[in-house]
Amino acid sequence: MLIPTVVDIETVRGICNARCIMCSIESPKVQPGIVIPNQVFEKILRRYAPYAVHLIQVNLVGIGEPLVDLQVREKVKITKCVLTSARLAIITNASLLTPVLSKNVLDSWCDDMIVSIDSIYKVAYEGIRIRLNLEKSLDCINGFTKERDSGITTQGMIQLCYLDIGANFCSLGSILDQDLASIFSGDIFSMIRDAMNENCWQELPCFNRCNIPLQREKRLSAALQ
Ligand code: SF4
Repeated sequence: MLIPTVVDIETVRGICNARCIMCSIESPKVQPGIVIPNQVFEKILRRYAPYAVHLIQVNLVGIGEPLVDLQVREKVKITKCVLTSARLAIITNASLLTPVLSKNVLDSWCDDMIVSIDSIYKVAYEGIRIRLNLEKSLDCINGFTKERDSGITTQGMIQLCYLDIGANFCSLGSILDQDLASIFSGDIFSMIRDAMNENCWQELPCFNRCNIPLQREKRLSAALQ
């Protein structure tokens, strides 16, 4: 039986302070926005609990900014409580990372903060991360590292992360209804995994529908004009 070692959970969907050119956040498939209530989040985590020994990392990430969730601190605590051995990472654009939020997140034992920052050049960064400001984002990141280094015992690693996500998802099943192992070893997931391993991913219909690179080029040239 195959079990995943890294799990992404979309705690916030369709709500973000940015409008990145490669993001499908404004797609009707993503709207209206939601934040997963803590009870539902805990229910999801408990579905993973039987496999906790296999889980290396849980990421809070999706089409939405995890830090708009006013309960993100509690979600970190719940994760560390239910899946005790997995590392917990928040993948964020970092620009909502105020000193207070930095302290709260670090105090709740978040292991990693993975920051999506595409360029250190202002024109390029702000041309991709629409609505964000490079100086403000860097201030937030620097404030976070300062807080991390001020004696709080957490690993709070910062990593560069870049991800393209289209809205044409291929459904693999629901963790609320199904067992994790049955989803991960199910027919659809197995077919996709085999195609990826054999380098035949272009034959998969779900990948053929992806037009994100084209859209990104168009939106980037519009933003730079
Ligand atoms: S890519 Fe991330 S930061 Fe950018 S708009 Fe989408 S959810 Fe927000």
